[in-house]
Amino acid sequence: MSRSRDLRLASRVIHGHQRPEPVTGAVMPPIFTSATYAQSAPGEHRGFEYSRSHNPTRYAFERLVASIEGSPITEAQDPSCGGFAFSSGLAAMATTLELVDAGARVVATDDLYGGSRRLLSQVRERSQQLDVVYADLGDPDVAERELTAETALVWVETPTNPMMKLVDLAAVAELARARNPNVILVCDNTFASPIFQQPIELGFDIAMHSTTKYLNGHSDSVGGVVAVAREDLVERMRFLQNAVGAVMSPFDSYLALRGAKTLDIRMQRHQSNALALARYLDQHPKVEGVIFPALESHPQHELFRRQMRGTSGMITFTVTGGLDAARRFAESVEVFQLAESLGAVESLVNHPAIMTHASVPAEVRADLGIDDNLLRLSVGIENPDDLQEDLERALEQV
Ligand code: PLP
Repeated sequence: MSRSRDLRLASRVIHGHQRPEPVTGAVMPPIFTSATYAQSAPGEHRGFEYSRSHNPTRYAFERLVASIEGSPITEAQDPSCGGFAFSSGLAAMATTLELVDAGARVVATDDLYGGSRRLLSQVRERSQQLDVVYADLGDPDVAERELTAETALVWVETPTNPMMKLVDLAAVAELARARNPNVILVCDNTFASPIFQQPIELGFDIAMHSTTKYLNGHSDSVGGVVAVAREDLVERMRFLQNAVGAVMSPFDSYLALRGAKTLDIRMQRHQSNALALARYLDQHPKVEGVIFPALESHPQHELFRRQMRGTSGMITFTVTGGLDAARRFAESVEVFQLAESLGAVESLVNHPAIMTHASVPAEVRADLGIDDNLLRLSVGIENPDDLQEDLERALEQV
């Protein structure tokens, strides 16, 4: 258990804070479905009281994520080493927002996943009176202006969804902390995965994921997780996870743990497939533009090289011919599936304006550049030639 902190990332996705199940020696934890645990006398138990509060299968997944996101919290400080799993990515976000008080100033990146933006503007601005400011934190002047001493929490997505803008995490952490030493810095690391980006190492307090995406990786479970690096926040998150109660089920914890064990090897294949397809699209006459940080043409390519260790399978691009052409493309692919979500073994295509970002007001979408001819690919781990041939066939229909 203690040795796992010294292991490299590709080994930690398998062994990070894991140990055989103590009774049988099982190398994978069983799915502990029991809702409650017998006590030898009132209040006397073995660390497990009730499954919302404590569950061994969930703990195993939470510890693994804490390890791979590089949280320094030990088991002596917290039973799940600062990892906390929830019933969805949005449940993880909603619980994290409970760390701040009513009326707090929250600075969020402007190009957020539509559901994250909806939670902030249509729920928490009303119910928690949060003062939410959406800012292009990739622009140093904007960061300088918006990260004020009153900022209680910063919510960053990088790369952003779907415009693939990058935020310099180390610079934001330094500036926000200089303005307010108590600020809570959260990075939604779903798009990059911990294999390619480590927000905690760059000065952030919390790395958050929709485990529905790369961490689980198989499109068969919805979940969320946070890895918390600050001891004061770990205590508060442990309280909130139990008090709010939106916990990950034992079965989903098992699936996510099983999926996460192949995260490194999957990410390497997502990366090589996506690189090949981004280059292919970039030279295609029916493609107007490709937005992909690993391409030299991306305006923040230098930051990509400095901050990220590689690229996931996310590619955004525009086709010539407007909405009709985009629709035709999305309806013509055969290996790629037209579906919401991302980050799993199968390749998906999404039309953000109609699908994932439909809840973002049209004028905000226009400001951000989420146009009607914009498509987002989540490149899976299939054979790259099959994927390229599929894109070729679909582009012929445009
Ligand atoms: N964050 C990002 C970047 C996402 O793409 C998503 C979902 O698409 C979420 C958060 C929300 O996660 P979930 O759908 O698991 O609630």
